[in-house]
Amino acid sequence: NASLAQVDPEISDALDAELRRQESTLEMIASENFAPVAVMQAQGSVATNKYAEGYPGRRYYGGCEHVDVVEQLAIDRLKALFGASFANVQPHSGAQANTAVYFALLQHGDTILGLDLAHGGHLTHGMRINYSGKSFNVVPYHVGGDGRVDMDEVATLAREHQPKMIVAGWSAYPRHLDFARFRQIADEVGALLFVDMAHFAGLVAAGLHPNPVPVADVTTSTTHKTLGGPRGGVILTNDAAVAKKINSAVFPGLQGGPLEHVIAAKAVAFKVAAGEEFADRQRRTLEGSRILAERLCRPDVAAGGVKVLTGGTDVHLVLVDLVDSQLDGKQAEDRLHRVGITVNRNAVPNDPRPPMVTSGLRIGTPALATRGFGAEAFAEVSDIIAAALAPELPDSAVQALRQRVAALADGHPLYPTLEGNQS
Ligand code: PLP
Repeated sequence: NASLAQVDPEISDALDAELRRQESTLEMIASENFAPVAVMQAQGSVATNKYAEGYPGRRYYGGCEHVDVVEQLAIDRLKALFGASFANVQPHSGAQANTAVYFALLQHGDTILGLDLAHGGHLTHGMRINYSGKSFNVVPYHVGGDGRVDMDEVATLAREHQPKMIVAGWSAYPRHLDFARFRQIADEVGALLFVDMAHFAGLVAAGLHPNPVPVADVTTSTTHKTLGGPRGGVILTNDAAVAKKINSAVFPGLQGGPLEHVIAAKAVAFKVAAGEEFADRQRRTLEGSRILAERLCRPDVAAGGVKVLTGGTDVHLVLVDLVDSQLDGKQAEDRLHRVGITVNRNAVPNDPRPPMVTSGLRIGTPALATRGFGAEAFAEVSDIIAAALAPELPDSAVQALRQRVAALADGHPLYPTLEGNQS
């Protein structure tokens, strides 16, 4: 039982370098976060050794008495967190959870409505070469000229195409969805309503975002974005018939043995998410994105002002609109990378530039809120971003911005107790 550094110095060194990268840069990819050490300990536990096909109390392997405790705690905590009567915590990822929903509730060739990928939807909501797009007749809906989902279009498309399911959820959208209106449209045409809350689940858990679970027929989430846990997926519903189909779609429909070490880490994350510290973190996440949107739009902060889609945000991310800028999404992402801020470029609706270039940036605040950022630090990072996106950025300015980033990173230590422990 030699240590990682002894068994595999190459991997150990790469992981140490990744720890230093995470500590020394400012992480603003909207779908990322920092899992607590307790979550990583659970994920690195002996549960990785255990086969446990089936569900708690109904396994196809012996010796499951302890992982049964783990998985039942994860289920019970998740149900309590979102007010659901059923939860499945086994999906290996968000995409797996969504696949299980489709597999459970649809037939090949059925019609579904989903938000267009280019307007903020996810690959699994019907992208042409994704499983969802290949298996179903996908009718995309869009955002309107104000950047918000065009609910009248959703209603019109639903009446015209009579979908079996309407998918509501997004990967790049800065506002709340109107769940009540989605429900009403789904009811009118007899469709199922499936909400994918992968991005905003942490805000829901903290009571800072409308909860789709009571409204939707089925809801999925990832556990690693705003929720701040290990990488993974979950499925929730209040409908007993849907629940039964979901359980058999996940296992044996799509997966074999569940990842009980990840489920242990999910359980820890759900416990954390029920606490006051987590709620405070989600409040700072929202405060940070509002400060970011507000400061980027201000001509006195950003030279001439940086355009933000919908003019602001209700959630943990801001979408920068570079359609009219001489900087494209790729150049803007590279600029921020040079000063030590990690974001991802993102297509904006009706983007004139190609998908590998794009005309937008998606900038999120969850990871920095986890690092302890408050209003003052978020204002400083917003000003650094605004300065980095100026039309011209000489090397001397890059150096000065890097130092400001380093001061913020040093002032908000990430994993003090992990220093050196990777090796
Ligand atoms: N659903 C949404 C809305 C997402 O944004 C994502 C991830 O980006 C997923 C599902 C897929 O999650 P995963 O990467 O865990 O498969």
